[in-house]
Amino acid sequence: MITISGQSIHKRLAIGKILFMQADRPELCRATAEDADAELAAYRDAKAEVIGQLHELYKKAVDKVGELLAHTFEIHAMMIEDEAYSGMVESMIRNEHVTAAYAVAATGRHYAQMLAQMEDPFFQARSADIREISDRLTDQLLGNHRESAISEPVILMAEELGPGETMQLDASLILGLVTHRGSENSHAAILARTMNLPAITGVAIREEWNGCTAVIDGEHGLLIVDPDAETLAVYEDKLRTERAKDEELAALLPLPSETKSGVRVPLLCNVSCAADAALAAELGADGIGLFRSEFLCLGGSEYPTEEEQLAAYRNIVATMQGRPVTIRTFDLGADKRAEYMHLPEERNPDLGFRAIRISLAEEEPFRAQLRAILRASAFGTVRVLYPMISAEWEIRRVDEMFREERERLLQAGVALGEVERGIMIETPAAAIVCDRLAGYVDFFSIGTNDLTQYVLAADRQNYAVAPYYDPHHEAVTRLIAHVVREAREKDVSVCVCGELAADVTATAELLRMGVDSLSVAPNSLLAVKKAVRECE
Ligand code: PEP
Ligand code: MG
Repeated sequence: MITISGQSIHKRLAIGKILFMQADRPELCRATAEDADAELAAYRDAKAEVIGQLHELYKKAVDKVGELLAHTFEIHAMMIEDEAYSGMVESMIRNEHVTAAYAVAATGRHYAQMLAQMEDPFFQARSADIREISDRLTDQLLGNHRESAISEPVILMAEELGPGETMQLDASLILGLVTHRGSENSHAAILARTMNLPAITGVAIREEWNGCTAVIDGEHGLLIVDPDAETLAVYEDKLRTERAKDEELAALLPLPSETKSGVRVPLLCNVSCAADAALAAELGADGIGLFRSEFLCLGGSEYPTEEEQLAAYRNIVATMQGRPVTIRTFDLGADKRAEYMHLPEERNPDLGFRAIRISLAEEEPFRAQLRAILRASAFGTVRVLYPMISAEWEIRRVDEMFREERERLLQAGVALGEVERGIMIETPAAAIVCDRLAGYVDFFSIGTNDLTQYVLAADRQNYAVAPYYDPHHEAVTRLIAHVVREAREKDVSVCVCGELAADVTATAELLRMGVDSLSVAPNSLLAVKKAVRECE
């Protein structure tokens, strides 16, 4: 029995035989060609053919994984058409007199390496996309057909899987995925989660394991090859429990989220990207309760522009088809920072320059975000949510800017919808004086993750103080109850969006207090619906 630790991509269990997928594309040697024009024509034909195939794959994938994720194929088609990529291939053929297949392989390697060396995990993850389109093109040029060797359910083990390859997998034959290269942020990882496949990456895979029985313990990021009888029995038992739970939860999909006495409890989702929102929509979420918009800031070399943000917000608004989308303004700082922000090094980052404090100090990026949110409201139901408010003057100032930007857009004749305004209740100060803050907003969203760490003075990221970080501590519970009471008094709706909302042992108590809605990660939605339906 061998146990290896990797990085969990999707926290589920799998038991089965390993199929080791050969990286069956030997590196192409540099080969010269006599007739550059013929190679150029071959490249252009292959390009047209592959783009056609990608459009076909897109159409099929829409049914399988939904519009947003299927979009990967359209992005691949665009990447092939990209001038930098195609320009490099054509220039190598013309100037270096190499074969089209070699030019494609060399161009693919060049861009894939460049992206893999970037610090940002988002760009590193795009390296797999470049490799995949280059492989498709070389296969087309060389007449290779990468046949799938999968005929029975297996745990697929591969050096790396591209997003297209992942999407083409027949999920009924894949028990789980184990890869060496990959990252939590890659399209392939997002797809694995969407397809609900147990998956881990970062495992030094070995061909000799082909055919061995193995366990993927996604919860703990473990691969166990050749488990002994006792271990196998333990995991078989866990798998039976997981399946029974899945079946029970899947049956809840068409049922409403309501208590036994018929009180509707809207269940919203916390999302960080468009793919999460697609999953939320598929699971029947009543809306997006928290879009952590700051993730848009972490990939680039500067703040996303107003137009880029508008496109991202519209995308999610379109996905939710009229259901409310709550966009939290950038909650940057602490562990969410990028070079270009020039944030100070701080001794206590969680108590430092973060969230609304940055927005109040750097008005222009904040105003651009407010405009993008306002403009997105013309396309659906949009709400704005401000993080880490702790005093009345902060919300007053923020609201002033919101009104100014709204007025400016209206003056310019831009179409806008009504945008409800809310604040995160995640500092003890906000919770205590929430009656005063209520006058400025339409809703509260209780962020129990931060609220717990600030109330109990226990860093939410410090494992050493984990026993002190207890969202069920009476001090936290009493504060939540106080906020809900005040909110009801002031006619402000109240949602809980911290992790406590997904803790089914807390559901009954939150509802008893009078919380109006809960916002949870998409994968927790059905479990929470079950808990709601069990409440009186
Ligand atoms: C929270 O603090 O509870 C919350 C939902 O926000 P985040 O986890 O993004 O800090
Ligand atoms: Mg928070």
